[in-house]
Amino acid sequence: MSTFDPIFAPITGLGRAAVAVVRLSGPGAWALASQIFQPWEPESHRAVYGRLSTGDDGLALPFAAGRGYTGEEAVEFSIHGSPASMRLLLEALARVGARPAEPGEFTLRAFMNGRLDLSQAEAVRDLVESETELAFQAAAQQREGSLRQFVSGVRDRLFGVVAAIEASVDFSEEIGEFDRDLGGREVAACLRALGDLQHQAQRAQILRQGLRVALVGRPNAGKSSLMNALLGSERAIVTPIAGTTRDFIEERVDLTGLPVVLIDTAGLRETTDPIELAGIRRTYEVASSADEIWYLFDASEGWTHEDEEALGSLGRARVLANKSDLRSSDRGFGISAATGLGLSELVQRIKVERDLAEPPTFLLTERHLPSLEEASECLLLALEGLGDGAPDDVLVSALRLAIRALGEITGETASEDMIQRVFRDFCIGK
Ligand code: GDP
Repeated sequence: MSTFDPIFAPITGLGRAAVAVVRLSGPGAWALASQIFQPWEPESHRAVYGRLSTGDDGLALPFAAGRGYTGEEAVEFSIHGSPASMRLLLEALARVGARPAEPGEFTLRAFMNGRLDLSQAEAVRDLVESETELAFQAAAQQREGSLRQFVSGVRDRLFGVVAAIEASVDFSEEIGEFDRDLGGREVAACLRALGDLQHQAQRAQILRQGLRVALVGRPNAGKSSLMNALLGSERAIVTPIAGTTRDFIEERVDLTGLPVVLIDTAGLRETTDPIELAGIRRTYEVASSADEIWYLFDASEGWTHEDEEALGSLGRARVLANKSDLRSSDRGFGISAATGLGLSELVQRIKVERDLAEPPTFLLTERHLPSLEEASECLLLALEGLGDGAPDDVLVSALRLAIRALGEITGETASEDMIQRVFRDFCIGK
């Protein structure tokens, strides 16, 4: 077990609340707790009611070493959630010899003590930050070890190939030549598995950052109405995005679990007004950087020549026939910003198209991608080498490089610097 010093931090949100929880973790945590909490008769996982030296009363929940979140001896104090009660407890803990935890330090210890691998630690952060149900479910699966198991499974298969090659070198008389066809199939299967992971990364990116949707169309097509309809129907998690340019309204919205960033743009039309022209130019810029363009037209007027031109200049777009409550159109996907007609079907269709009807099993991040790419490149080299008779030691070293790169995802072979970077993004108390 670790030789870390005892640390403490609130693990519930700051601010007034009925109850707040403070965690104390590290060797000797129980002895420190006995100095500030009475009666102290600790038994792992059994909460005891008592009085704190701060004058507050509350619960102490002890965890024996190896059994709690951090893997260390720990105590979680549930106290009254006032700023004063909290401050007094933090001061008392410092007085008896513990120190405030750094952001992410509890989870770092859990990682160091083998309670979590690096991909699970990252999922803890994603879980805490998840806003939509899909992101929450994906983070929960990864925290339970989905990515670790997947990556470890691929590594084990590659270790198997390496072992088979090495055995055939060392004991060639007893076991004969290494079966290159069999090895090739095994490596190809691993390569496909990594390809699947890379595909999952795109889904994870949408869950984390939101699908960026530019609403484009001629004036009065109903862009603002659609934006309001979508925001209004999901008032719960509507947060304006800080730091964006104000010439376009950008709002983040949770559309039944799918996080979407809606960008309302200037209407497209023939004009000589320089300000409007500048707005239209920006519309094209915004549209080109969005994940999707929704091109709205007024179905009650029908599809016009101007719509045809605008769509042509955008290149790609999902055509939406708005105002379908007034008149339906055989062009595009029929919706009505006024009545809500077709909106949930639209969202469901996008989820299916983007493979997000179900939460992804993994939440890959930017950190994982270079490791995945390196592993894939090495496996590709190994596969080619297997095909054209490369020497065994060349194959083994390519496979070992792939295994090492994959170990960066789970943390076995991650550098100190990489580990630091993972935990740097955590908030206090995680
Ligand atoms: P924008 O210029 O594209 O942002 O269009 P607006 O959202 O301002 O809408 C223009 C007009 O069309 C407004 O009078 C809206 O009330 C109306 N409108 C928008 N969407 C619908 C719809 O789905 N059905 C009907 N009947 N009217 C709509």
